Amino acid sequence: MAQANRSFDVVIVGAGFAGMYMLHKLRGQGMTAIVFEAGGGVGGTWFWNRYPGARVDIRSLEYSFSFSEELENEWKWSEHYAPQPELLRYAEHVADRFDLKRDIVFNTRVEAAVFDEASNRWSVTTDGGDTVSAQHVVMATGSLSVPTNVDFAGIEDFGGTIYRTSQWPHEGVDFSGQRVGVIGTGSSAIQSIPLIAEQAAKMTVFQRTPNYSVPAHNGPIAEDVYADWTARRAEYRLAMKSTAGGFFNDPSEQLTLEAAPEHHATEFERRWQIGGFHILGAYADLGIDSEANKVAAAFAAEKIRSIVKDPAVADILTPKDYPWGTKRLCVDSNYYATFNRDNVELVDIKAAPIERITAGGVKTRDAEYSFDAIVLATGFDAMTGALDRIAITGRGGVRMKDRWAEGPRTYLGLMVSGFPNLFTVTGPGSPSVLTNMVTSIEQHVEWIADCLLWLRGRGAATIEATLEAENGWVDQVNEIAAGTLFPQANSWYMGANVPGKPRQFLPFAGGFGVYREICEEVVERGYEGFAVG
Ligand SMILES: Cc1cc2nc3c(=O)[nH]c(=O)nc-3n(C[C@H](O)[C@H](O)[C@H](O)COP(=O)(O)OP(=O)(O)OC[C@H]3O[C@@H](n4cnc5c(N)ncnc54)[C@H](O)[C@@H]3O)c2cc1C
Repeated sequence: MAQANRSFDVVIVGAGFAGMYMLHKLRGQGMTAIVFEAGGGVGGTWFWNRYPGARVDIRSLEYSFSFSEELENEWKWSEHYAPQPELLRYAEHVADRFDLKRDIVFNTRVEAAVFDEASNRWSVTTDGGDTVSAQHVVMATGSLSVPTNVDFAGIEDFGGTIYRTSQWPHEGVDFSGQRVGVIGTGSSAIQSIPLIAEQAAKMTVFQRTPNYSVPAHNGPIAEDVYADWTARRAEYRLAMKSTAGGFFNDPSEQLTLEAAPEHHATEFERRWQIGGFHILGAYADLGIDSEANKVAAAFAAEKIRSIVKDPAVADILTPKDYPWGTKRLCVDSNYYATFNRDNVELVDIKAAPIERITAGGVKTRDAEYSFDAIVLATGFDAMTGALDRIAITGRGGVRMKDRWAEGPRTYLGLMVSGFPNLFTVTGPGSPSVLTNMVTSIEQHVEWIADCLLWLRGRGAATIEATLEAENGWVDQVNEIAAGTLFPQANSWYMGANVPGKPRQFLPFAGGFGVYREICEEVVERGYEGFAVG
């Protein structure tokens, strides 16, 4: 490590989009910062998740940085939903363009961060044994950066190759002629299954819970679309900041049951044909009214039945035990149609659970399947996973993981009481994973950078969320979630995919635009809810 044992204004953990922008922003303010990144390159999510079909589910024109006009002018996206290699190139481009890498230490994991109350500074220790000191720490560790450890019995016995979508080999994988088992049907699986099926001799998909998926209708961005975006970009970028999700999906204000059934049919179909998350905006109450939600669910079920030829397979692929849209919708290219292929079979492991991995493949309660390769697409320990894995110790020797034993508690998803000068980008209690994450990242990075500047101007040593403000915020986050249908799903939003994780709705569901205004009002009121020392 080139800059070992030094002192910084800020230590940033993670070199995904959040960490990169944070570094750039702080440098611009004349602050010293160092970034530690566990991976061997920039890009975070797009560095790790190189599985076939990996791509963004928000349009690339919107899922991209807006902070630099020059950057926007010089980068051109090839497709509406850019694939992972292009997103990684973009991250690399951003890093090079702003000369970020000289302050990023790669292949280095932060293991501990300890606040020293005497000096009001953090000591940050890496797995390389280095310790650096900083006034502030920014955890840009990602909301979906820690895969769940699904330990199937016998996994070490498997004689073929096991691939994890979140740690995909950089050189790619050729499945030609192979018998492949895919375990999981979340977003990563839904993106990769159609492409693996095209290569594999035979593919078996093991599904525990079906997901709702909508077509991307991906393709090149037409010149006139690009020209319009470029001409009106400033206006569009500004408008995005007031949307519920940090992206455009033309939200209707109409209530579902106030519209006629014929309207439902045409409106859902129109939005299905546009593709992506447009369908979420069909009616205003789909996320809060069970009866309205059933109309959307019925439309989705009918779509699955119309695409998948075998009615029994269509039935297994149709979600039945949670409301539509209460898990992040998947955006796919050819997912359902893949189950019409002769070389693809679907196994319902809710009905017949996997008992173990064997030397030759997978054994469920009812049958044994032989594979050359198994792909694990089993999800992430969302929002708290990366923070839990760092020994973060605040005032009084309190560990953040212990403070959060009953579920995460933050003020605005930005700070935690008892942990002064430590910020989380897109942390629990902020809109985060319910949004276009780049929009949320930019908003958080800019809020944190402004805050540090303000502190410096006042000559303040610390800023810290008060317990009162934190309690109030947690109550607000919980109340808003309780008014929605989200808690009815056993989703990763609820922590339900990780055994033993407290069941709590993790993000702020009140909408990005509303949240941003709250954050701005807090600042206008002199950082209300924060104690400054
Ligand atoms: C497969 C996949 C697809 C996604 N698709 C979309 C999408 O379509 N739209 C969308 O809005 N969002 C999507 N997301 C969410 C995505 O994570 C964000 O869009 C965004 O990339 C997050 O950037 P980040 O910098 O906050 O975190 P990440 O990109 O997750 O970067 C965090 C980095 O921190 C590093 N890190 C973590 N802990 C440590 C540690 N202790 N020490 C050192 N380094 C550490 C990690 O190695 C990682 O590189 C997707 C996520 C996944 C996993």
